[in-house]
Amino acid sequence: MTIPLSEPNLGPLESKLVMEALESGFVSSVGAAVTRFELEFAERVGSRHAIACSNGTAALHVALRLVGVEHGDDVLCADFTFAGSANPIAYLGANAVFIDSEWDTWNLDPELVVAEIERRAAAGERQPAAVEVVHVLGQPAQMESIVDVCVRFGIPIVEDAAESLGAGWSTGRFAGRHTGSVGAIGCFSFNGNKIATTGGGGMLVTDDDELAARARHLTTQAKVPGVGYLHDEVGYNYRLTNLAAALGNAQLSRIDEFVASKHRIAAAYDDAFGALPVTLPPRKAGYDSTYWLYSILVADEAERDRLLEHLQKSGVGARALWRPLHVQPAYAGSRAVGSGIGTALFERGVSLPSSTHLTRSDQATVIDAVRAFFS
Ligand SMILES: *Cc1c(COP(=O)(O)O)cnc(C)c1O
Repeated sequence: MTIPLSEPNLGPLESKLVMEALESGFVSSVGAAVTRFELEFAERVGSRHAIACSNGTAALHVALRLVGVEHGDDVLCADFTFAGSANPIAYLGANAVFIDSEWDTWNLDPELVVAEIERRAAAGERQPAAVEVVHVLGQPAQMESIVDVCVRFGIPIVEDAAESLGAGWSTGRFAGRHTGSVGAIGCFSFNGNKIATTGGGGMLVTDDDELAARARHLTTQAKVPGVGYLHDEVGYNYRLTNLAAALGNAQLSRIDEFVASKHRIAAAYDDAFGALPVTLPPRKAGYDSTYWLYSILVADEAERDRLLEHLQKSGVGARALWRPLHVQPAYAGSRAVGSGIGTALFERGVSLPSSTHLTRSDQATVIDAVRAFFS
């Protein structure tokens, strides 16, 4: 038996709420569970509005369209992230310009964002239609100077907070804020491997009443209320089902428990690996990561492959980090700026089992296997 990388944590409350939704007869895209999920989610992340979507990628698609991204536009986006961050840019016929990571948070480098926008201003080039900030692995990105330069040039920010439910900032300018609530729109995912799941689902959050109304409209086929099937633009069938939202309500009510588990797991790994020749995940003061997937860096790609093989033989479900998007065949020909930190994270990174219900004995097995590799 292999210890899984990240498994959903489902208990009796999940069964109860899903059964209630089933018995109510409201299984599709309208119902009390969806309404409750949106209200409680908005409250949890500190946004005025939350609109439930069929998945995180769909939420990003709608978000980028709502901030005005059109065919032929550029969108600055993190290079070191899951493909779901950038695919919605391509859906809109826009071009992703990939921004490299920085070492403090592994997220997109604010200095590169500022430099790219200022370079365009100086050269008289068109500015990007949006900047998409991604908070990878539950780690909040450094947003101060990104927010400043975007305000200065009137560029909207969309946050991909798919992996960072429960994360935020505790000091500094965004103290008390949750990831996803800083930009014009934030997007979350409830895929099965995320910290909270609805089976498949997503959420779009915003403080802007008009964006919220437009998001609700676009996710429901842009059908104008009333009789006569009037559609005033091309919409999407992107609403979350009531059945899925019922699962989400159970998960959301346990989010503090899940975040605490992730912290406990990360602290135990940090303790165990402190003396090994590995780089631990970012711990930046005032940045409250959830350590969604606890990931370490080893010396190089060859060592990473040997470690992954060793862990697999030891029954530990570990995984490499993402291949940066600018080298993906899907994004061949895209522009990228940076010096290759994302590539280094990919070549050297290994994610370790991080399920919120990982047992102490399973974690000890993981720790022993990693230690044995380096001994
Ligand atoms: C999971 C994920 C997405 C996509 O979310 P889905 O719900 O799977 O569509 C987007 N961006 C990042 C960073 C993710 O991890």
